[in-house]
Amino acid sequence: MIVYVNRLKSDVSGRVPFGLTEDIKEIDLGGERVDFSGPVKITGSVEWDGVSFLVTGEVQTEVILECSRCLRTVRYPLRTAFKQKYSETGDGEDVLSARGDRIDLNIPVRESILLELPVKVLCREECKGLCPLCGADRNEGECDCSNEEIDPRMQRLKELLEE
Ligand SMILES: [Zn+2]
Ligand SMILES: [Zn+2]
Repeated sequence: MIVYVNRLKSDVSGRVPFGLTEDIKEIDLGGERVDFSGPVKITGSVEWDGVSFLVTGEVQTEVILECSRCLRTVRYPLRTAFKQKYSETGDGEDVLSARGDRIDLNIPVRESILLELPVKVLCREECKGLCPLCGADRNEGECDCSNEEIDPRMQRLKELLEE
């Protein structure tokens, strides 16, 4: 995920646009994995102010997640944006180092994707989820578990209410 900025320092506008299409296979979230169903597209521009580079980028991709209710695969279109400062030394808060004329977008792109991931995703609004007793996918039809069966905690509550 490299943007080359060698022509930027001599460019009178002080700004160059870029567009990248990268294949990220997955992001590892300390045990939890996020997979991608297609490439990650990054567009934006780099500005040079004489000391540091400011990268403004937009990220567009599609991640593969699991439905929070039935665990089916869900393709989730994701769009996010980031701003990241780079300098040759990388000194300062939130400043990454640029190596020569190369700016590596790996960190801001991954971070912006992670921040944009939904906590919960559903395959569809009316997903019925899995039966808590037998684990059957209720979207496929009713399972054999009795509907009369109540969670023990609910049973206790019911008794309390009836008392
Ligand atoms: Zn579902
Ligand atoms: Zn069941």
